[in-house]
Amino acid sequence: MAALEQFRMTIGGKAVDAISGKTFETQNPYTGRPWAVVPDAGPEDVDAAVAAARAALEGEWGALTGFARAALMHRLGDLISENAQRLATLEVNDSGKLYREMIGQLNGLGGWYHYYAGLADKLEGRQIPAPNPNYLVYTRREPVGVVAAITPWNSPLLLMTWKLAPALAAGCTVVVKPSEHSPASTLGFAELADLARFPPGVINVVTGLSRETGAALASHPGVDKVAFTGSTATGRAVAKAAAENINKVTLELGGKSPQIVFPDADLAAAANGIVAGVFAATGQTCMAGSRLIVHAEVHDELVRLVAERAGRIKLGDPNDPATEMGPVANAQQYEKVLGYLRTAQQEGATVAYGGAADEGLGGYFVQPTVLTGVTPESTVVREEVFGPVLSAYTFTDEAEALKLANDTPYGLAGAVWTKDVHRAHRVAAKLRAGTVWINAYRVVAPSVPFGGFGASGLGRENGIDAVNEYTENKSVWVELTAGTRDPFTLG
Ligand code: NAD
Repeated sequence: MAALEQFRMTIGGKAVDAISGKTFETQNPYTGRPWAVVPDAGPEDVDAAVAAARAALEGEWGALTGFARAALMHRLGDLISENAQRLATLEVNDSGKLYREMIGQLNGLGGWYHYYAGLADKLEGRQIPAPNPNYLVYTRREPVGVVAAITPWNSPLLLMTWKLAPALAAGCTVVVKPSEHSPASTLGFAELADLARFPPGVINVVTGLSRETGAALASHPGVDKVAFTGSTATGRAVAKAAAENINKVTLELGGKSPQIVFPDADLAAAANGIVAGVFAATGQTCMAGSRLIVHAEVHDELVRLVAERAGRIKLGDPNDPATEMGPVANAQQYEKVLGYLRTAQQEGATVAYGGAADEGLGGYFVQPTVLTGVTPESTVVREEVFGPVLSAYTFTDEAEALKLANDTPYGLAGAVWTKDVHRAHRVAAKLRAGTVWINAYRVVAPSVPFGGFGASGLGRENGIDAVNEYTENKSVWVELTAGTRDPFTLG
């Protein structure tokens, strides 16, 4: 058996082991075998990382101008592109996602650093006219401080970057805690920060097997802001921990996103978008379009098209360029998805395609699954499966389509498929979701805000405004007359 690859954490610019010396093995979900060894950090390592981040903020990094930060970020963006193959391979080994998807993600990832580098030197305050002419008032955008970035296993580097790039632009320092299921790529990434010549302590990474490591970071008194992506249940715990410290928090959580298909839609295009929405990445994306809400007139034809394409999806080795769907990412997730498939059938769903594990391939493979005959109350319609499972049900008019689409605590994304431009925008406006695609699905960019309504989260990542999530707005009053005033009144 090949030797396991060894990784170390980056804290204060140094490659380090956990203080306890403990490590854990990370599994490759395709082979079902361990492939790497990473440090198993505890609260004492989190303390060290937060202290290093604080020292950088108060030291060399804190003294840099936005122009200097931008130069470092551009260098990091270039290094990511130069190392895209290596980083993509680390992600594939850890999460079982397709190389063809991850290399695309990694080739584009540097773009986020270039985009936010473009904002680092444009964090302007304002001069505000005061009603009292004796004062000059202006505002300053200052870094919020030490940021804890806690990420899930499904796209570790992309979801970390949505936090790290605006945080660096704002002048913050960061401690990243990747998921225990996929820690390696973030450890590999941190080595590039050193090559880009970031001052020590600006980008720190801690990895731990226990969920306590993330909890220790989220509740750490030395942290000023927590940026989290993961499940709604953990997000709630993170928000509570942040509230204890009166910390800022952004949360990118789960979803149960609707794909609404009207009878005038291009059904072939809709079927393709539905496949992209729920079978790409084996359905393990927060924005999975897992509810197909389709007009009764075209239900049978659309389900036939989607089921037919699902039947042709090539499952297999994530490294094979011909593979279209890899395994689910870990044993826990595999059991969870299969449990939902059993429940759906017990509750009366009909399987139009799939419906079970694909045991012929070894690893944690689940068939792409299309379910019909579900109701708005079905468990598989209400709960996030986080796997390749589509649930289809029908509507007869626009009002009903919207009612069904919005009948969820989540509100991350959704799509409307129609050729009627009036209806497209009308429905987009009424969908309670942070992102709506019209005749498209699963497109994101550094410049476009992303985040959720309701149980899908708090705040937005990406876009110009995301940088403000990492700044404090300070007002400065300057007395202009050198005089004094009545000290017992509010000025
Ligand atoms: P998770 O919530 O189990 O874990 C996310 C991260 O939080 C991990 O690093 C974990 O170690 C850490 N963690 C666990 N307990 C913690 C605690 N008490 N305090 C602080 N951190 C803690 O999520 P997951 O299983 O890794 O990821 C899947 C979930 O993430 C799905 O529900 C999915 O919808 C969601 N997700 C959302 C988005 C989005 O942008 N909205 C993107 C990807 C994934």
